Amino acid sequence: MGVEEKLPAGVLLSTVEGLAGYMRKASLWPATFGLACCAIEMMTTGAPRYDAARFGMEVFRASPRQADLMIVAGRVSQKMAPVLRQIYDQMPNPKWVLAMGVCASSGGMFNNYAVVQGVDHVVPVDMYLPGCPPRPEMLLDAFLKLHEDIKAAKLGSNRKALEAEQEQAALEAAPTLEMKGLLR
Ligand code: SF4
Repeated sequence: MGVEEKLPAGVLLSTVEGLAGYMRKASLWPATFGLACCAIEMMTTGAPRYDAARFGMEVFRASPRQADLMIVAGRVSQKMAPVLRQIYDQMPNPKWVLAMGVCASSGGMFNNYAVVQGVDHVVPVDMYLPGCPPRPEMLLDAFLKLHEDIKAAKLGSNRKALEAEQEQAALEAAPTLEMKGLLR
């Protein structure tokens, strides 16, 4: 992601992490990208009544090259999936994805061949927001939770250590088939 990736673990990296996290979370710019009814709620969130400008997010960028947050607002059709992926690929790193509503998160009530059953089949999702549609207050809450994640993000060797730890935990986790209790 930059020079911070080259820093060794320690006080200096922790300080850079804190500074970078704070600046990144306070300067998120969403891409102008709406797919269905959820997009109306997303647009309302940017309007004066809800005022996403309070969080530095009022500028919905028309070019993916100037955006670092993709809000997938609505169901993703199979035909749209490659377009969505292309827009995601054109966004510069670091970037984040918010799946807004049940359709984007899991296909929702559209359990059919025409709709992607969760946008995480196409792009990595950082935050899932339930609801049909989620109200602007819910989207603002998702923004704030995403801000906290971005602020606490690890960089460089710290991130590599965290990824290794998560990978190990996943390898050691009990397979779903072997789980007892409410699942059976
Ligand atoms: S979650 Fe509901 S409001 Fe959002 S795109 Fe799906 S059907 Fe429309």
